[in-house]
Parts: sequence; structure tokens; C-alpha cells
Amino acid sequence: MLNSEYLQRVYSQVVTRDPDQKEFHQAVLEVLESLDLIVDKHPEYEANGVIESFVEPERVVTFRVPWVDDQGKVQVNRGYRVQFNSAIGPYKGGLRFHPTVNLSILKFLGFEQILKNSLTGLPIGGAKGGSDFDPKGKSDAEVMRFCQSFMTELYRHIGQFTDVPAGDIGVGAREIGYLFGQYRRIRDAHEAGILTGKGLTYGGSLARTEATGYGLCYLTAEMLKCMKNDSFAGKTVVISGSGNVAIFAAEKAMALGAKVVALSDSNGFVHDPNGIQLDVVKDIKLGHRGRIKEYAERVAGSTYTEGFRGIWTIPCDIALPCATQNEIDEDIAKTIVKNGAMAVAEGANMPCRPEAIRVFQEAGLLFAPAKAANAGGVATSALEMCQNSMRYSWTFEEVDAKLKSIMEHIFHNIYDASKDCGVTGDLVVGANIAGFKKVVDAMLAQGIV
Ligand code: NDP
Repeated sequence: MLNSEYLQRVYSQVVTRDPDQKEFHQAVLEVLESLDLIVDKHPEYEANGVIESFVEPERVVTFRVPWVDDQGKVQVNRGYRVQFNSAIGPYKGGLRFHPTVNLSILKFLGFEQILKNSLTGLPIGGAKGGSDFDPKGKSDAEVMRFCQSFMTELYRHIGQFTDVPAGDIGVGAREIGYLFGQYRRIRDAHEAGILTGKGLTYGGSLARTEATGYGLCYLTAEMLKCMKNDSFAGKTVVISGSGNVAIFAAEKAMALGAKVVALSDSNGFVHDPNGIQLDVVKDIKLGHRGRIKEYAERVAGSTYTEGFRGIWTIPCDIALPCATQNEIDEDIAKTIVKNGAMAVAEGANMPCRPEAIRVFQEAGLLFAPAKAANAGGVATSALEMCQNSMRYSWTFEEVDAKLKSIMEHIFHNIYDASKDCGVTGDLVVGANIAGFKKVVDAMLAQGIV
């Protein structure tokens, strides 16, 4: 576990303070294990209480979200915003609407977001928010009333120089539109920079929708090139999920010459040995919010299987988990290795459990952690903020080129950091250390710890 007594004390305080926040503990421990390699060389961290500050959010807001359903009944959900760290820029991070949302999940996501945002090289701090509201099965009018009520409280805590939320699971273009509309009404001002992921007609950026999935493939391609002198061309790829990240990761992997053979949702997965037809998936998922099962009903030669974890029994060269946290455990990781995969890159946040990551690394697979691999979404959100500030918009090609260059830069940054720490190619350590150093330098320089 941890060698440094200082880090042991910090971790034990995190666990004692919030014993039920398992996902948060998991995210903190992974980062502290990386910091263990450098902490002895930095006595100023302990002297200034740097790491104690780093693991404690600057502010956590929780609030009631009452809304009226289509039967006229009042429903009450809980809303959250975890404003974790603003040392290098305004808080930035998505909103998640899903019944499993709680403080542990949002603190883990907000904590990861600090490091991810730092890695983009852009001036954005870390945050995350959301609600235990489930948009699935709700009418558009119900989702609109929920979003309006959510923003009626959230608006006090956000602003283009304070905190800029975006989408995440359950929060796509529709929800961002309703949230933005309510903010504009309350404030009587069109402040485009208060949210990202906006529609193109009211301040959104071209390529933001595609950015997380495309960015995942850009970073993976650079990793394959530099560490294995290889590429996506001719590779078989399995991608979990069939939401925003999964769909556009599939699109880019195919454009780079790979064959994507499986996708999933929380109910089950489809396997199409001939290669997934993405236009059918888009029609199902983006067209009418259908279930992935429908794909097998529409495409001859494909099959549907209940249970979303089974997707990882399908052999592949490259695995891109793009659904949710902790979907790949040790046993699943062993299956992926046994089936001959060469690389795993995390599109979702923390989809691999720590034991699973160890299995991949010990077997010599390339492994790209989420905070680097899926940073393309937030990086493009920051580019959306830039365009909003300039009152100007770049073309799709301009944004996509910036995204590609950011992802390639992130790969080299974390690879070099792994080398500097004496663990060349361990991109988990590289991402944690490179992300951490920039934020902590800013914290120390500002005397805020
Ligand atoms: P979406 O809501 O668009 O899609 C999520 C997908 O994952 C759906 O297919 C969903 O299936 C599946 N899923 C959700 N929860 C579970 C679960 N508990 N078990 C199994 N499957 C599940 O979300 P995104 O694509 O935007 O996000 C996916 C992941 O990527 C998340 O971890 C998110 O934090 C991360 N991410 C997203 C970014 C973005 O720009 N959107 C940026 C960076 C990270 P179903 O429809 O059945 O719920």
C-alpha cells in the first residue's frame, strides 16, 4: 500500500471522515500510490498541508430539487455541486443525472476532474455535480421541469469566472438546453460561458459532441504508435456503452481503420462480427433513445445478450470501456488478457477497478487511464469557453485539429512523467504526477493551502 507515513495519515483521515464514500476512497488511494514515488523529495507538501487540502473539496453544495410530474404530483430529488479545486482556473466538470448519484460518486469524479483538467494544459479547475434524478422513461416536459428546478438553485453557485458545468451521464444536449434556458431567464442575460455542451444555435462548439470519443482514439493512436509502433488499422475493437462517448469512439476507431464488433447499454450487449453499423446505432440511441437490443433485431448476423458485463468475453485487440465506473473487475481483466488484447484505454471515468489495472499492466498491455484518455471532452469544453469569450466560432476542422494536438500532447506529457518517475510506460503514475504537479505548484504559489 502506501510507504509514506504522511500519505498514510492523509488517506486514513479521508476514510475516517467519510467512511461510506468507497468510490472516493478508491480514487484518492490510486493518486496517493503514485504520489508515494515523489513525496519524499517534496517536504514542502507536508509542511504546507498540501495533500490534505488537495483531497478536501473547496466547497460542496447540496440542495432540494422539487418538480411536478405529468400526473401533477410533486417529486423531490437531491441536487449536488462539488467544487473541488479552483487553483488553476474556474471550477469545471459535468453534471450527472442518474439514480446512483451520491456524494461519494461525485467526489470521486470531481477529484479525478482536477487532474484531468490540469492535464489538458488549459486553465480549468475541477468540479462535478448532478442529481439522483433518472431521465430514463421521463417525458420531455418532465425533464424540462426538473432541469428548470435544478437550475433555480444551481444558478447562484456558477458563473463564467466561477464554475462552468457541462454534461455527463444522463445530461446531453436536451438537458443542457433546458438548464441554459432557465439560467438565462433568471439572470436576464445571455452569458454563454456559464455552461458547455450547448447547442450550436446558442453558443455551442462544433466537435464538442464528438470530442470525448474522438479524443480517446487520438490518445490511444498516439500510445500505440509511440509504445508499440502500431495503429488502429486492422484491429478488432470492443467498446462498452452506447452513449455519447461510446458512439463517437466507435466512429473515430472505424475511421482509423479498426473494426468495432460490440457495444452495450446497462441491460446487455450486441455482438456484430461483421463490424457494427454505426448509422443503425445512432438511429436507435440518438434518434429515439432506444435500447441497444434493437440493433440485433435490425441487423442480420448480429446477436444480443442480456447482462452488460458479458461484452468483455468477446475477443478484441483494443478494449475501450466507455459506460460507467468499476465495470471491469479482476476476473474480467483476466479474460480480456487471455483473449489476446494489446491495449485498454478508459473512455468512461474509472471503469477499471485497481486490481484490473494491475492485471493489464502485469500482462504488458498498454493501459491509458481515464483522466488522460477521456480528457478530450473537457478540453473541447474549454475551447467552447474560449469561443464564447471571443464571441466567435471555429470550424469543425479547426476544433478537431486542436483536440488532436491536445490529446497527443497529453500522451507525451504523461509518458515523460512516467519516465521521470522511473516507471517508464506506467501511464497511471504519469497522469497522476503530471496532473498533480501543475495544480499543486499553483496552490503553493497562491498561498492557499
Ligand atoms: P451517456 O449517458 O451518453 O451514456 C452512458 C452509457 O453507459 C449508456 O450506454 C448507458 O446505458 C451506459 N451505462 C450507464 N450507467 C451504467 C451502469 N451503471 N451500468 C452499465 N452501463 C451503464 O454518457 P456518456 O457517454 O456521456 O458517459 C459515459 C462515461 O464517460 C461516464 O463514465 C462519463 O463520466 C464519462 N465521460 C463522459 C464525457 C462526455 O463528454 N460525455 C467526458 C468524460 C468522461 P443505459 O442507456 O442503459 O443507461
